[in-house]
Amino acid sequence: MLTQSEQSDTILRDAMERSGQRFTAQRAAVFRFLHATDIHPTADEVYRTVRADLPGISLGTVYKSLETLVGCGLARKLAGGNGSARYDGRMDPHYHARCLECGRLRDVPGPVNPESVVDVPVVMDGFAVTELRLEVVGYCDGCRPD
Ligand SMILES: [Zn+2]
Ligand SMILES: [Zn+2]
Repeated sequence: MLTQSEQSDTILRDAMERSGQRFTAQRAAVFRFLHATDIHPTADEVYRTVRADLPGISLGTVYKSLETLVGCGLARKLAGGNGSARYDGRMDPHYHARCLECGRLRDVPGPVNPESVVDVPVVMDGFAVTELRLEVVGYCDGCRPD
């Protein structure tokens, strides 16, 4: 049995090999965290966590590692509510619920069915649609006004 960290490292190693990039301790630490969490962290949140294992890592390196993961199809970059991008290590189609107050994202459980929302190719004539993103907005438990 592989541990979750070993699984993450194997996935990253394969992706780095495919795209001709190097497997580094920094990229591995960033991906291990992102792959295991569902909090959709900002680069800063990733930095603060990964720094515990790799004290020498810089925010700039974390940011570049995240962009490398996005470029290799191992992570997605999501626009945050307050200008800071958030990162998602979950690649299967799913919707997000975003808190209007703190900007945190949560995964919406249940299936994704774009056809039930809108007939995109008809309304977007002359536009090459690659994906439909639906976002639920509201207030998380910590921010909900009583
Ligand atoms: Zn909130
Ligand atoms: Zn997600």
